[in-house]
Amino acid sequence: MEDINYKIVLLGDAGVGKTYILNQYVRGQQPKNNLPTIGIEFATKTVTLQDGGKIQVSIWDTAGQERYRAITTNHFRGASGALLVYDITKEKTFENLTRWMEELKTAANKDVVMFLVGNKTDLVERQTNSRKVTKEEGQLFATKNQLFFEETSAYRGTNIASCFEKLIEEMYIRK
Ligand code: GDP
Ligand code: MG
Repeated sequence: MEDINYKIVLLGDAGVGKTYILNQYVRGQQPKNNLPTIGIEFATKTVTLQDGGKIQVSIWDTAGQERYRAITTNHFRGASGALLVYDITKEKTFENLTRWMEELKTAANKDVVMFLVGNKTDLVERQTNSRKVTKEEGQLFATKNQLFFEETSAYRGTNIASCFEKLIEEMYIRK
């Protein structure tokens, strides 16, 4: 195991599904409750890379402070990867991405790898007209800002592991 700390931060408006995404990736399930937790939470996971090597990543979740935009720089410090999450059924969460990205850049590593995630695809499949941000809009924003991009459903587990895998491989390459 390499002795490097691979830190990933989860960012985006309250309610977009950050905690669900983290739980889905780390535990393969949905959180037991929806209560906002106190302070910053993080989970660690040992990841096997494509070349067979193993690294440990720590993934930092926010714990409701994003509601008040009161996230401390400590949250971002040393991050070499980030998942920027929005809800494809809530336009505002997409519009706020630029601000999240700016905050991230103030404190994360210079070469931080950013992954854009449009979450809640299951809602769109179940309810017609619930989609408010098209996949093309997501892709365009990602291309403009040099982000990886994927749409996910943390609810079903769709594309969650692959987002983290791509992000971590890229972080590993850049280190
Ligand atoms: P956070 O505030 O960004 O951490 O968001 P949460 O992970 O707490 O999720 C907020 C709410 O959105 C939860 O009550 C979930 O029920 C719901 N949610 C999260 N991910 C999904 C998803 O992929 N699909 C659907 N339908 N709901 C989701
Ligand atoms: Mg949360």
